[in-house]
Amino acid sequence: MKDIFGMRLEELQQVLAEFRLPKFRAKQVAEWLYVRGAASFEDMTNLPKGARAELAASLIIGRPRLKTRLDSADGRTSKFLLEFADGTAVETVLMRQPYGNSICVSTQAGCNMGCAFCASTLHGMARNLTVGEIAGQAVYINDMLKKEDGGKVDTVVIMGSGEPLMNYDNVLGFIRLLHEDYVLGLGYRNFTLSTSGIVPQMYRLAEEGLPISLSLSLHAPNEELRSQIMPINRKYSMKEAVTAAANYAEVTKRRVTYEYILIDQLNDNEKEAEELAGLLKGQLASVNLIPINPVKERNLLRPSQARIEAFENYLKARHINVTVRKEMGTDIQAACGQLRNKHLQDK
Ligand code: SF4
Repeated sequence: MKDIFGMRLEELQQVLAEFRLPKFRAKQVAEWLYVRGAASFEDMTNLPKGARAELAASLIIGRPRLKTRLDSADGRTSKFLLEFADGTAVETVLMRQPYGNSICVSTQAGCNMGCAFCASTLHGMARNLTVGEIAGQAVYINDMLKKEDGGKVDTVVIMGSGEPLMNYDNVLGFIRLLHEDYVLGLGYRNFTLSTSGIVPQMYRLAEEGLPISLSLSLHAPNEELRSQIMPINRKYSMKEAVTAAANYAEVTKRRVTYEYILIDQLNDNEKEAEELAGLLKGQLASVNLIPINPVKERNLLRPSQARIEAFENYLKARHINVTVRKEMGTDIQAACGQLRNKHLQDK
């Protein structure tokens, strides 16, 4: 049976034409799918009864189901484990920020990039998510916010499990779908895509003409250390990835963010701060320092506050735009992949 969740209006029109339904019906169905939360065709009360039964006999609405929800003690972060029809489960995080509700979506079930600090990669990658499965995470949380306090999703960070540029077409399809006014109507500037540095696709993304923000997971300021922390560096070097990020900034005129996980004694010394400042000198860029969220399966430790501040101040003194990510949800295993791993272990 064909799943229609994740289809754009034009695709819905084509599918409904097979059931001899006119174009305006597709708009109604889209509204039921993305705004009004219909779980079945029976819920779509403005469709003729006969059509509802006919559609239900051949089509499905593949919304994710909630498996687990964890709320942080301060109520600002909620983490969801959402499950699709085949039993695949992924994590989605909601962060209630002062500037609005931000969600972090997964694009693959697991990941095979092998980053040393990351729990998402411990079991490899099960599969790519479809457009509907990525969109399903956003629509699920948007519906929930609407019911809870009349809120909505304001910004989307594509930084959950998976390397989004390894699932390029579906991720771009997801961004375009959410932008549509019959879905969430989100401006492209409200999306941030984070990559470990898949260089050819970074160039391709720059040519899409979408003003989405790009962030590059750098995590080390030299080739040797980056290869140690991120195996992808052996395929696409740091130099190539930084050049591709600079090209993205140049073409889109959007500032690129460099994510840098601070790991005690490994990449948080003055030597690395100096190399990082040299690498980004003169670029339209900012650095986001992320003190590592300890993952028990990995023996990588969080630096002391003094070391974090020293690293930050070194960069500031060299006129690098730098922020330290505020901790959110450490009490609910908000680090990417931890909840899903627990789910896999419990299975
Ligand atoms: S940090 Fe991102 S790219 Fe690296 S293993 Fe984790 S999910 Fe994959």
